Amino acid sequence: MDYKNKDWLQNQYIDLKKNTYEISEICGCSRHTIGIWIKKHNIRKRSISELNKIRYRGNTDNLTKKICNKCGNLKLIKDFYIIQRSNRKDITIPNKCKDCHNKDCKKYNDKRKLSDQKRRILVLIHYSEGKLECKCCGEKNIEFLQLDHKNGDGAEHRKKLGGCRGSSMYRWVIRNNYPNMFRVLCVNCNFSKGAYGYCPHRNLPEDII
Ligand SMILES: [Zn+2]
Ligand SMILES: [Zn+2]
Ligand SMILES: [Zn+2]
Repeated sequence: MDYKNKDWLQNQYIDLKKNTYEISEICGCSRHTIGIWIKKHNIRKRSISELNKIRYRGNTDNLTKKICNKCGNLKLIKDFYIIQRSNRKDITIPNKCKDCHNKDCKKYNDKRKLSDQKRRILVLIHYSEGKLECKCCGEKNIEFLQLDHKNGDGAEHRKKLGGCRGSSMYRWVIRNNYPNMFRVLCVNCNFSKGAYGYCPHRNLPEDII
């Protein structure tokens, strides 16, 4: 294996300015392996600016391919989300490939989902006086719990907020310092209240009458 020879690898990488992908093609291994051996041999890694210079050194490959800064793979231009500015003719090829971009988006969304979840629990705890249960039937599975407008003016309120529901309602509640207009019901009790005006459990103050 050529890459196990430090002098050879250094010559390829530093003197001939080949990238790890090109070297891996010669050796018939993955570029990851080349990266490992560059480290093992203590060969100086290239800086991003050196990398960019090499990337655009006139090789026709560089017109159709680009190295992704995130995963380090040499990819076809079509594997990048090309940015075309409406007022300009030129295009920009981002530094991250589509795969890496999508992965980062997913990570971001997962993170946001998590904080949405936290926000929801916080709000539900507040309006159930720390019990985290349905005010009517005592349902404790948090997946079933919802915010209920105590005075039955939910539709009106949501309309006033421009169709605010789901996580944006929880955000609104926190932003507005937990106004005294909600309670926590489970999906069943809340549905029955909305559809029939009462819950058959008859546990809510307005149901007793
Ligand atoms: Zn990538
Ligand atoms: Zn309930
Ligand atoms: Zn009920």
